[in-house]
Amino acid sequence: MSHRIEKIKCLIIGSGPAGYTAAIYAARANMNPILYQGMQPGGQLTTTNEVENFPGYVDGVTGPEMMIQLQEQAKRFGADIRDGWATKVDFSGDIHKVWINDIIELHCETVIISTGASAKYLGLPSEQHYLAMGGGVSACAVCDGFFYRNHEVVIVGAGDSACEEAHYLSKLCKKVTMLVRSEKFRASKIMEDRVRKTENIEILMNHDTVEVLGDNSVVHAIKTLNKTTGEVIEIPATGFFVAIGHKPNTDIFKDYIRLDETGYIINTPGTSKTNVDGIFVAGDAADHVYRQAITAAGTGCMAALDAERYLASKE
Ligand SMILES: Cc1cc2nc3c(=O)[nH]c(=O)nc-3n(C[C@H](O)[C@H](O)[C@H](O)COP(=O)(O)OP(=O)(O)OC[C@H]3O[C@@H](n4cnc5c(N)ncnc54)[C@H](O)[C@@H]3O)c2cc1C
Repeated sequence: MSHRIEKIKCLIIGSGPAGYTAAIYAARANMNPILYQGMQPGGQLTTTNEVENFPGYVDGVTGPEMMIQLQEQAKRFGADIRDGWATKVDFSGDIHKVWINDIIELHCETVIISTGASAKYLGLPSEQHYLAMGGGVSACAVCDGFFYRNHEVVIVGAGDSACEEAHYLSKLCKKVTMLVRSEKFRASKIMEDRVRKTENIEILMNHDTVEVLGDNSVVHAIKTLNKTTGEVIEIPATGFFVAIGHKPNTDIFKDYIRLDETGYIINTPGTSKTNVDGIFVAGDAADHVYRQAITAAGTGCMAALDAERYLASKE
């Protein structure tokens, strides 16, 4: 395919709840938004069967179904939804340049980055198997903890988020076993103390996850190795929560956009503005705290409104 240049008023990169919400608002404001979906059309929610906490869905909804509806809503107002992946950017000049699949060169007045983040997993074949089956592996306690009420679960991780998620689960589950891979927590002392003081959280230090065990469709137990004694034990559990961090999908922006030490985009507090005029951010790409569909959608709305006001100020 030959190289082509296209001029765009509002480009949206990413098709999760943040991107589609931005597209709905931008389309209704006559900004003619063009949205590129990336490698995971619909974003992270397409990997989950049940979304029960997005307002408006009384009986819950599957992630893929919800994302199809958001896409249809954006299309209804004329958003141009396209396949393609942003491979390179140049935000050094007045015209913001973005390349799609290294072939299409977009010259944009405004860009909304909504490229999300990816949860990190241990990478064990059994973990990936039950994750794919929707059979008891999760990277989000707030999203999935409710499904394990009064069950016994295992969580792996040692940072602040892992402690927060373990504590959250302890209020829903009968027992939470927390596996810490080394001899020390990475979390702050206050967070470590909070899990240590919680009666139904058992902490196993210096333990590796060896295998997620189950009946091929749902999880029954977690096999662990005590690295101090060499003992291998099986901990009964119906849920296995992985809380070892997320990676924001922001690598291509790092030469132009201010990122924090873990790669999240830094926005001006209370807005979607980045350090570059005309470039806005929404959703998990800038959020290591809440990481929910509803917060992603909310910041998608903010980004479209901020972009619209930016364009109006230029007229
Ligand atoms: C298994 C699972 C279950 C969850 N369950 C819930 C739940 O029940 N309730 C809830 O509120 N939240 C849930 N979450 C969290 C929720 O999915 C996220 O908070 C939300 O999807 C973030 O939305 P986003 O739009 O910021 O990004 P994402 O959903 O991460 O989407 C990012 C988009 O950017 C695209 N992209 C990335 N890089 C590029 C690029 N270079 N060019 C073009 N496109 C690109 C991707 O293809 C994708 O479309 C869950 C998450 C997971 C993983």
